[in-house]
Amino acid sequence: MAEYDFDLFTIGAGSGGVRASRIAAAHGARVAVAEEYRVGGTCVIRGCVPKKMLVYGAHFAEDLEDAKQFGWTIEGKSFDWVKLRDHVQTDIDRLEGLYGETLGNHGVEVFRERAEITGDHEITLASGKVVTAKYILIATGATPQRLEFPGAEYAITSNEAFHLDGLPKRVMIAGGGYIANEFAGIFNEFGSKVCIVNRSDQLLRGYDESLRDRLLQISVMKGIQFHFNTTFKAIRKNDDGSLHVELNGDENVDVDMVMFATGRRPNIDGLGLETVGVETSDGGAIKVDDFSQTNVDYIYAVGDVTDRVQLTPVAIREGHAFADTVFDDNPRTVDHSCIPSAVFSHPPIAAVGMTEGEARNKLGNIKVFQSDFRPMKNVVAGRNERGLYKMIVNAATDQIVGIHMIGPESPEIMQAAAIAVKAGLTKADFDDTVAIHPTMAEELVLLK
Ligand code: NDP
Repeated sequence: MAEYDFDLFTIGAGSGGVRASRIAAAHGARVAVAEEYRVGGTCVIRGCVPKKMLVYGAHFAEDLEDAKQFGWTIEGKSFDWVKLRDHVQTDIDRLEGLYGETLGNHGVEVFRERAEITGDHEITLASGKVVTAKYILIATGATPQRLEFPGAEYAITSNEAFHLDGLPKRVMIAGGGYIANEFAGIFNEFGSKVCIVNRSDQLLRGYDESLRDRLLQISVMKGIQFHFNTTFKAIRKNDDGSLHVELNGDENVDVDMVMFATGRRPNIDGLGLETVGVETSDGGAIKVDDFSQTNVDYIYAVGDVTDRVQLTPVAIREGHAFADTVFDDNPRTVDHSCIPSAVFSHPPIAAVGMTEGEARNKLGNIKVFQSDFRPMKNVVAGRNERGLYKMIVNAATDQIVGIHMIGPESPEIMQAAAIAVKAGLTKADFDDTVAIHPTMAEELVLLK
């Protein structure tokens, strides 16, 4: 008889949990995973994937408009939110099925219910079933942070945004980060009147200033309104069902929907962490070492619940490294440096490495190369929207320490450019590479 029911019990079947469970099982471990909502987690069910589908859907608004200049006549165009919403959800169902299949194919037992750590190596499921495991992995992700003020309950979060009955005419989004800018672009392209309310005058803190300024400028040009240095006082419901929003230090606004996009906090409530003494930070993140091990030696945590870098590909790597470390006798850590990222705003932003400000502070002597250009497609379309590429180089070594881009397809271009930055290539290496003409990406090898 084995000492424990399972070698690994994973709580949370999102990106990190599924990868860790699958790889651990492939290494021969007996694995179970508990998921209280839907297999796939935030990214697949109510994050990156459905969001990207909405971004594609939204972009047709511009493409159809631009098509006129390319000779196309499009009559009777209209947009049906419900149709898009339902198509997106159908595909999410399909993906959820695939994730479940992957776990099943690897012999991972899936409990579709909530799990709580109730003792040493012991987990109790919502149904009352008690199981034991040699190792426990917490991969419960994060949840949208809601603001608190009178009437805050009228606001939704991105969780609900994917399921709206109809498209709101007037949308107010709280926050100035990833989700705020992505959804502002989406709703604006669909024809909603969008405003962003942000507590500071800085959008997308952490991204290079030139890109943030450019996004703001283009967003304003597209009709998105901004209320900076503003906080919420109250929301109350008007007789017609719309919302009356009172802002501190700004005029009141009537809208049809308010959405909080004010960060995500680690999902630790009701996990039983205190029962076994797992340490958390002040912000509620589970504290882990480089191997994702908590202070309790048989409990590990990966992904957003550790609040290291809240990005799916990072959670996946952490989950994989954990499984290799614990179940394949192959200790591996994840390198959290030089992680490329993107904001799927309209237009999108992509970045890797240090911003100009960070590089100046850290390295002192840097060179900045920049291309501020109007993509050919925009010129023909008569769209006055410029792209901006910026390369930050360590002047002492010629090594590229950061690339920052805003413009069409910049995340697609960045994935390849990020390899070069991660590999420590120099500006001379880029200069030695022949351009592919005519492309936007060629700007990267033509920077003077
Ligand atoms: P972000 O951290 O990107 O932005 C949060 C925004 O909310 C900031 O503008 C922040 O202001 C503001 N804020 C935070 N707390 C408060 C508060 N108490 N009152 C008022 N404003 C507040 O979070 P998001 O919710 O947009 O996204 C969560 C995370 O999910 C991201 O950090 C990212 O890691 C991930 N994500 C990644 C995406 C991608 O890769 N494309 C897409 C969507 C999400 P301030 O700047 O002043 O702190």
